[in-house]
Amino acid sequence: MRLLFVGPPGAGKGTQAALVASRLGVPHISTGEMFRDHVASGTDLGRQVQELMEAGAYVPDEITVAMLADRMRSPDTDKGFILDGFPRTIGQVASLDKLLGPDGLDRVVLFEVDEERLVERMLARGRADDSEQTIRSRFKVYEEQTAPLVELYRSRKLVVSVDGEGPVDEVTERILRVLEK
Ligand code: AMP
Repeated sequence: MRLLFVGPPGAGKGTQAALVASRLGVPHISTGEMFRDHVASGTDLGRQVQELMEAGAYVPDEITVAMLADRMRSPDTDKGFILDGFPRTIGQVASLDKLLGPDGLDRVVLFEVDEERLVERMLARGRADDSEQTIRSRFKVYEEQTAPLVELYRSRKLVVSVDGEGPVDEVTERILRVLEK
């Protein structure tokens, strides 16, 4: 199954993407994780994106798309995948369409959670790029740049909504159930 997980920052989609991917036996492809790996190992790419990430801004499409396209060339994506955090802009949707063809995704799983709970979760997570100011700007960026993309996928009838609240394993079961339909 070729899936995209989308939702506001801190909605738990990364955790769920990893769990669902292992249950389905497909790779979990997270551009955020890929960028963090680059920053941690001090590559040229890592140096290029570090400041943007710390500010809660998006990395330019050109850089992000090149990295993702490279990852999608790996044969482990043949049997399906879960994309987590890409595409995040309308421009990236166009790039993904080109890469996979117009019917490249089977479902888009949209995480729905209460905004106050999200802020709590993100502060509790304590990641290096999670200062309170960063969280606020990541929300704003999500609303401005990523929310419109959900509407686009809605018009393609790909979006399924999942309640992201509650224990991790319950949310995983909810997702698997919705994917069976
Ligand atoms: P994430 O772990 O998905 O929340 O991503 C962490 C950070 O990596 C984001 O705040 C962006 O700075 C960057 N990033 C990840 N994916 C993308 C993307 N598809 N487009 C642009 N920037 C991204």
